[in-house]
Amino acid sequence: MTTELVTTRGGLPAIWESGGGWTNSGWAQVVCGPSGEPLPPIYVRQRGHLANGDHVLFAAREGMVLVVADQHRGDFEIKLWRIENILPPELNLDTDQPTADCRLIAEYALGEWHPPLPQEFTWAVQAAKEKATCYHCRGGHYFCTDISNQGRCNRWK
Ligand SMILES: [Zn+2]
Repeated sequence: MTTELVTTRGGLPAIWESGGGWTNSGWAQVVCGPSGEPLPPIYVRQRGHLANGDHVLFAAREGMVLVVADQHRGDFEIKLWRIENILPPELNLDTDQPTADCRLIAEYALGEWHPPLPQEFTWAVQAAKEKATCYHCRGGHYFCTDISNQGRCNRWK
C-alpha cells in the first residue's frame, strides 16, 4: 500500500493519528515505533474540527508502524503496516505531498490474526480499537507524553 503523508511547516514528512467512532461504526489510525512503542509527537491538535479528525502529528520515519482499525458494531478489521520507504514530493507524480510505501505485517479479519500478531504491538492495537470505538473522538489515544527523558516514553493515554 502507498499512503499519502503530510508536510510539516518545516518541510518534513509527517503522519497523523486520526479517526474515531460513530454510532455503530468507526475507523482509526494510530502510529507507533518499530517495536510498537508510543512515539513523541510533533504536534497535538487542540483546535479546529476535532471530532473523528486528525489529532496527533508524528514525524514519518521508515520502520514505524501504522495500525488501522475499522469496526462495524464492534466487529473489527485491523491492519498493521510498516513504512518501508518514504518518497519526497518531487518523486511523486500524482500528489504534491510525500508518500510512504507500506508493507502489511499482520491482518485481523473474521475473528483472527494472520499471521499471528507480534506481541509487541498488543498495546498499539488495543489503542486503535479503543479509538475506533471512541464516539466523536477528539484527541490522541497512543502517543508519548513524556519527552523530557530523551524519547524514553513511560506514560501515555
Ligand atoms: Zn478518542
